[in-house]
Amino acid sequence: MFRSIALKLTLAFVLVSLAGIVMMGWLVRSRTENQIQQLNNRNQVASFVNFAEDWYVDNGSWDNFRLSPRGEQGNSNRRFGRDVVLTDEQYTIIFGEIGPNDPGDKLQQSVRQRAQPIEINNETVGYVVSKRDQSNSPTVQALGAAEQIFLNQFRRAVWLGSGVAILVALLVGAFLAGTLSRPLRKLTTATQALADGNLGEQVDIRSNDEIGNLAQAFNKMSNDLALGEQQRKQMTADIAHDLRTPLSVILGYTEALSEGKFEGDAEVYEAMHTEAQHLNRLIDDLRTLSLADAGKLSLQKTNVQASEILHQAHMAWRVGASNRNIELVTHLPNDFEVVVDPGRMGQILSNLVSNSIRYTPAGGTISISALQDGPSAVFNVADTGNGIPADQLPHIFDRFYRVNAARETAQGQSGLGLTIVKSLVEAHGGTISATSEVGAGTTFTIRLA
Ligand code: ADP
Repeated sequence: MFRSIALKLTLAFVLVSLAGIVMMGWLVRSRTENQIQQLNNRNQVASFVNFAEDWYVDNGSWDNFRLSPRGEQGNSNRRFGRDVVLTDEQYTIIFGEIGPNDPGDKLQQSVRQRAQPIEINNETVGYVVSKRDQSNSPTVQALGAAEQIFLNQFRRAVWLGSGVAILVALLVGAFLAGTLSRPLRKLTTATQALADGNLGEQVDIRSNDEIGNLAQAFNKMSNDLALGEQQRKQMTADIAHDLRTPLSVILGYTEALSEGKFEGDAEVYEAMHTEAQHLNRLIDDLRTLSLADAGKLSLQKTNVQASEILHQAHMAWRVGASNRNIELVTHLPNDFEVVVDPGRMGQILSNLVSNSIRYTPAGGTISISALQDGPSAVFNVADTGNGIPADQLPHIFDRFYRVNAARETAQGQSGLGLTIVKSLVEAHGGTISATSEVGAGTTFTIRLA
C-alpha cells in the first residue's frame, strides 16, 4: 500500500508528533488540574482558619460554633462548609465530619498529621483539617466556575497547539521526505539507464551523506563499466589487427608461391617462419594473460639464489646486447635467497632486458641488479636508452599499449610484453613500477614482498 518512501516518512513524522502531543496533553492536563485543585483547597482551609480564629476571639470558646449564615460574612463565595473539619485543642471534633467520625469524636490519629493549628496569643486553641487528602486525585467537579473556565481555555489551547504541531509535522515531514527520496529517484533512473546498456551514466547528487556516497560509488562503477567496455572493444580490435598483419604476410607468400610467381628459397621460407613465430608468440602471450586474468597462472615456486636469476638473464641476453654494441652488466651487493618460479622470473627479466636492448642506442649500458630491502627482494633493470615521455609512462603496462605505435608495429612488437610482466610479478605477490627520463634512460623496479 505505502510504496513510496516519502509517504512512509511523512506518516512516520505525523505519528510521532501525534504520540508526543497525546502524551504532553495528558501530562499537562492532569498536572494542571491537580495544582488548581490543591490551590483551591488551600484557599478554603485558609479562609476557614481565619473565620474560626475570628469566632474564637469573639466568643472566647468553641461553644455553639456554627457557620454564620451566608451574607453575614459578606463573602458569598465561601464554600468551605462541606470540606473542612474543626477540632478543639484536644482533637475533639466540633464541626464537620470526617470518615466515620462525627462531632464529639476524637480526630483519627492518621489525620492529625495534616491538621493545621489555630493559634491565638501563641496558644493552640484548635485544629482545622481539610477533608481532602492532598495526595488524592481531586475531581474536576469540585472545581469552581472560574477554575473550570480556566481549564476549558487551557484545553482549547492544548488542542489548538496540537493541531498546529500536526500541521508543522506534516509540512516538515513532507519536505524532508521529498529531500530524501528525490536523489533516490535519480539513482533509480540512472540505474535503469545503466541496465539498458547506457554505460557511463552519471547521477548529479552532491550531498555528503550516505546517499551522496552511494551516488559517488554509482558514478565510479558506471565509469569503470564504460572504461572496461571500451578496453574490451579496443583489445578485440588490437588482437584482430595483430593477428592479421603476420597472417597476411604469410598468405601473400603462399599465394605467390602457389601461383608460381616466384621460386621458394631459404630467404622466403625464413621470412614466413619469422611471421609464423610472431603469431605463435602472440597467441602464447594472450594465453598467459587470460590465465593470469582467471587467476589460473600456476607458479612452480622454489628457493633460488638471486645470483642465479641474474646469471641466467645475463647469459640469455649477453650476445644480443653485444651484437648491438650495448654493455650488459649485473650488480649484486649481497647474495640472498628468494622463493619464486625461476622460469617465470626468467621470463620477466627477459621481457624487460629485451625491451631495454630494443630502446637503447649503441654504446649504451643495461644494468640488471638485485638487493634485499628489509623483507622484500628488489630487482632492477635500468638502461641508458631513449626513455619514455612522462605522459605515456602511466600507460606502458596497459594491454597493446605502444609508445610509438607505428614504429613498434613495423618491428612486429605486440604491446603485450609489459602487461605480461606485470601479471607475472603480481602472480608472485609483488609490484612493478617504472621511472624514466627521455634521452637518459628507463628503470624498471620489481619488489617481491
Ligand atoms: P612491446 O611489445 O611493444 O615492446 P611492451 O608492453 O613491452 O610492448 O612495451 C610497451 C611500450 O613501452 C613500448 O611500446 C615501448 O615504447 C615502451 N617501452 C618499454 N620498455 C622500454 C624501455 N626500456 N625504454 C623505452 N621505452 C620502453
